[in-house]
Order: sequence, then C-alpha cells, then structure tokens
Amino acid sequence: MDHVLVTGGAGYIGSHACKVLRAAGYVPVTYDNLSTGWADAVKFGPFEQGELTDRAALDRVFAEYRPVAVMHFAALSQVGESMREPGLYWHNNVLGSLTLIEAAVAAGCLDFVFSSTCATYGEHDGVVLDEDTPQQPINAYGASKRAIEDMLANFEGSHGLRSVIFRYFNVAGADPDGEVGEFHRPETHLIPLMLEAIDGKRDALTVFGTDYDTPDGTCIRDYVHVMDLVEAHVAGVRWLADGRGSRVFNLGTGTGFSVLEVIEHSRAVTNRPVPYEVGPRRPGDCVKLVSGSVRAARELGWTPGRSELEAMISDAWRWHRTGHYER
Ligand code: UDP
Repeated sequence: MDHVLVTGGAGYIGSHACKVLRAAGYVPVTYDNLSTGWADAVKFGPFEQGELTDRAALDRVFAEYRPVAVMHFAALSQVGESMREPGLYWHNNVLGSLTLIEAAVAAGCLDFVFSSTCATYGEHDGVVLDEDTPQQPINAYGASKRAIEDMLANFEGSHGLRSVIFRYFNVAGADPDGEVGEFHRPETHLIPLMLEAIDGKRDALTVFGTDYDTPDGTCIRDYVHVMDLVEAHVAGVRWLADGRGSRVFNLGTGTGFSVLEVIEHSRAVTNRPVPYEVGPRRPGDCVKLVSGSVRAARELGWTPGRSELEAMISDAWRWHRTGHYER
C-alpha cells in the first residue's frame, strides 16, 4: 500500500484525514510534535513524533516510508494568538513548512497537499470569495499561510513540486463513528466552546462583537464538515497522482452563518439553552468569510454532503458527550 506523510496527523483535521486515507487504501504516516495534538488520536497508521523544523528527523521519515505524497496540516491556527505572538507563526508555520518542503523535494516526494485558509483573503467588503480573490490577510495566521502558498509555487518552478492547496473556511463537526473528534486545549473555536458552555463545562460563551456590519451585527462564517473536508484531500492526492497539476481550491459550502445563528442552531440541536454574553470584538477577525466557489465541486467532484449546520453541530455534540483523548 502507498504511504502518505500526514503532518499534524494527531490533530483535529489531520486525524480525520488519516481515517479517510486508510479507508481509501493508503497508509497514513503521522508526523506530529504533539504540541496541540493527541497521541491517542493516531489510530490509522504509524506515528513519528518530531518537529517540522527538524530536517534530520524528516529525512529519516521520508527514507523509511517513501511516501507518495505529503498532506501538510501541522500548523498553529489561532487568529487571536497570531496577533499577540506573530513570531510563533512565522517560526512554526513558515520555517517549519520550508524545512518540510526542502525535505520532500530532496526525497523526491513531489506531490504536496497543503492546508491553507480563507484567512489569506482578508477583508473584501462582504463579497463572496473565490480562488482568484486577491489575498490580503489581516492577521499573522493568514499571512503565514499565504507565505507558504508562495513558497510552494517557488519550489514548483525550481524543483517540480506539485501542490494542491485547499483554502478552508470554518471546519466543524467530528467523525460520525466517534473514533476521532475535535479536542483543542486551549479551545478557541466557536462550536466546541459553545458545546462546552451548554454542557456546563465552562462559563458562558462570549460573543466577540455585535456591532459588525451584518444583519445581526455578528461575524459570518462558512462552516464545512471535517469529514467532507478531508475527503477533498484524498481527492487532492489522486488529482496529483493523475498528473493534473497544481491547483488551488476553496473548501466551503457557499452558505454563511452568523455567530448568533450558530448559537440558535446549537440550542435547537441540543435542546438546551446556550449561556452566552456579549463581549468586544476579537482583534484580527474578518467580518464575513464565505466561499463563492464551486471549483472543488466542478473539478474534484467534491460534494460537501454532511455540511448542514445541524449535522455538524450534532456530530460535534455526540463527540463532546462520548469521545475523549487521554490527557
Ligand atoms: N467567536 C465568538 N466567541 C468565541 C469564539 C469565536 O464569538 O468564543 C466567533 C469569532 O469571532 C468568529 C466566529 O466565532 O466570528 C468563528 O470563530 P472561530 O475561532 O471558531 O474560527 P475563525 O473564524 O477564527 O477561524
């Protein structure tokens, strides 16, 4: 069976990717430093613990497994943290990715699937975003991801590296089988924070700003189910294996929900009140991030069939109530 190197395979999205890679007949090799991931989320293939910036460790892993492709998830990904500590993002995300890319090309592993973000677009006055929208990130997280996209293009010119870049909108939900799920410490994302507040495991949720220029004053996001998202990545590996060349795809549904709408859906799904209070805006937040693209559907044959908001919240709720990782 072909191996795929999955950086960040112990994390939220990476662990779900390993599950679907395995189901698709690949062996996912997780490379993760466990800074934000969980060893017991690595269930579908070998685990190599290491830093992205450790070139010798990466060389050893490429030599041992000879992966046919890399799926690169490992990254710091919190907008707020990136505004307070940009150096962490440039060091870990940008320098780490450079080291990984150099190791991949040295090993002759030239198919690269990269986890990027709609945060690379920045503010565009409420317009829906397609892959050709100019990238003008307003936070260090988005800037670090845009820099890595540029890096991939440069290495294509110099070394023939081929990449599929996925710009994610807001990823939510969990594996419906309950084998893996979302578990961040600290948690910063809206849906898991809200579920923990609903369940009395933390204080009320704070809504970050109700004075935005949106119908209810709260920010609008396009939520996509993690299982749909990772299915696109397997399609990305096949796309590259078929020689179809480098391509950028947005992964979103085209439908946006405000923070207050997500709260209302969560109340309906869990049948419980959502304790929340209104707070100030969070620095770095864009008003509205909604995908305007059908490229992934048209070209990759991607159908985000699980990405109804109710399904995402109810899969996340089931995981919240029954799943866990050892701490
Ligand atoms: N949000 C919020 N309270 C929280 C966490 C998030 O109001 O405790 C809002 C946040 O301002 C944004 C949306 O929920 O408008 C989604 O934020 P999240 O951190 O989940 O993802 P991001 O869009 O930053 O990637």
